[in-house]
Amino acid sequence: MNFPIYTCIECGRKYEQDVLLTRCPYCGGLLQIVYKEYKLTLRDIPSLWRYMDLLPISHREKIVSLLEGFTPLLRAERLGKIINVKNIYLKDETRNPTGSFTDRGTSLEISKLLSYGVRKVICATRGDTGASLAAYAARANVEAVIYVPKNIEMGKLYQMAMYGAKIILTNNFIEASSLADSHKLETYVFKPSSPFYLEGVKTIGFEILEQLRWAEPDFIIVPMGNGGLASMILKAVRELKYAGLIENEPRIVGMQIKGQDSLIKASKGIIKKLESVREFRKVIAGDLLIEDTDLANYALKLIKRGEIKGYSVDKKSVIEAVKNLAKTEGIFSEPASAVAIAGIEYLYNLGEIDNKDTVIAVITGAGLKVPRTIIQMLEHRKDIGELIRAVATGKKVARIGATKIKILQLLKEKPYYGYDLRKKLQEHGVNISLPTLYQHLEELEKLGLVTRSERVMGKRKRVYYIITEKGLYLISAQ
Ligand SMILES: [Zn+2]
Repeated sequence: MNFPIYTCIECGRKYEQDVLLTRCPYCGGLLQIVYKEYKLTLRDIPSLWRYMDLLPISHREKIVSLLEGFTPLLRAERLGKIINVKNIYLKDETRNPTGSFTDRGTSLEISKLLSYGVRKVICATRGDTGASLAAYAARANVEAVIYVPKNIEMGKLYQMAMYGAKIILTNNFIEASSLADSHKLETYVFKPSSPFYLEGVKTIGFEILEQLRWAEPDFIIVPMGNGGLASMILKAVRELKYAGLIENEPRIVGMQIKGQDSLIKASKGIIKKLESVREFRKVIAGDLLIEDTDLANYALKLIKRGEIKGYSVDKKSVIEAVKNLAKTEGIFSEPASAVAIAGIEYLYNLGEIDNKDTVIAVITGAGLKVPRTIIQMLEHRKDIGELIRAVATGKKVARIGATKIKILQLLKEKPYYGYDLRKKLQEHGVNISLPTLYQHLEELEKLGLVTRSERVMGKRKRVYYIITEKGLYLISAQ
């Protein structure tokens, strides 16, 4: 077995014991997992577990999987035309079990916890990791307690609730995180800097290269919050190099959004210290705020050393990118993901990316999880805004007018012929001429809501109007 070794990124100490560690017992530094040998034989498993050789799991039977990973790498031709970069590929992580790349990490995390007999996990989160942790905890029959700030997005809250996590609402992330930490001594508190979680995230890098048949792209661009994703893709690329599967490293770029780009600011010396999260008003990508300063400090080190690049783009271009991605490629992402797309355009305009470069953008999470942000983006549009308000308020929509509805309501009682129906309508305060009534009836017939039947009454023939099943359904829904 390829036994994983914990290595402290601060003091360099190595730990080879098979124990559950999340921090360096000596200096408290972040731990990274390294392997005795870098050999990768792909398993025939349609999930990230195909890379098991380079994952820290020693008990195969303890793997908790919802078939995470193995997501498509899609060529984005139409989007490429807009941005003027020909070879864009999208790593579509919205296809993961809970709609986010975090499933990769939590599959590893929960599997590892289970193998050490941990039955309860606590975490503080703004969303994606919590929703994912809740799903995997449910599958593993592990109790999940999740502290969330009150501005959490509904989509993610619904997920956690449905997966059966215990949710505790707090005023903001700092409070959530302090409360979660207060349980440190009694049970396991999950952080995105956990070495197991990060090993799961790493597999995005493996997959991208495998899908490109081990031909290195020029760029891999990812959204950056704590910087964990960018750091782990770098780790993946290096491991593939050690394994002899690739020769060169693609350039790895982490993108942030202006206003919440403390990693970029710190790398330029504009701010001295990485602050833990502050809650911003109208944040469009809550998942890109720093939740784990240690993880962010590690990414900062990599940026300063030039091993990963970091840039920030403005909020407007990210909103534009969410729309373009959905409209041109059929992928509905969270704004946090679209920052990678905005990044391609930004780097192209900067002259960093050439229009023939092969560029991979990692689309980290699904748009359906963040309805509040999406509504904010759409409601200023006249057509859609009205639509959203009508649905949200349950307002009646008069697509089929009041007169037609009245006609259908009368026909529900019994069939009428024209003249009689007009009289009946008058009794109900609807005064229309016979030709107008016939016009309405003709239109209702076209809509399939009314049909007619000729009846012979003595010498006279009369056309009776009868409401159809569809007509009955329509008025019952009014
Ligand atoms: Zn250490």
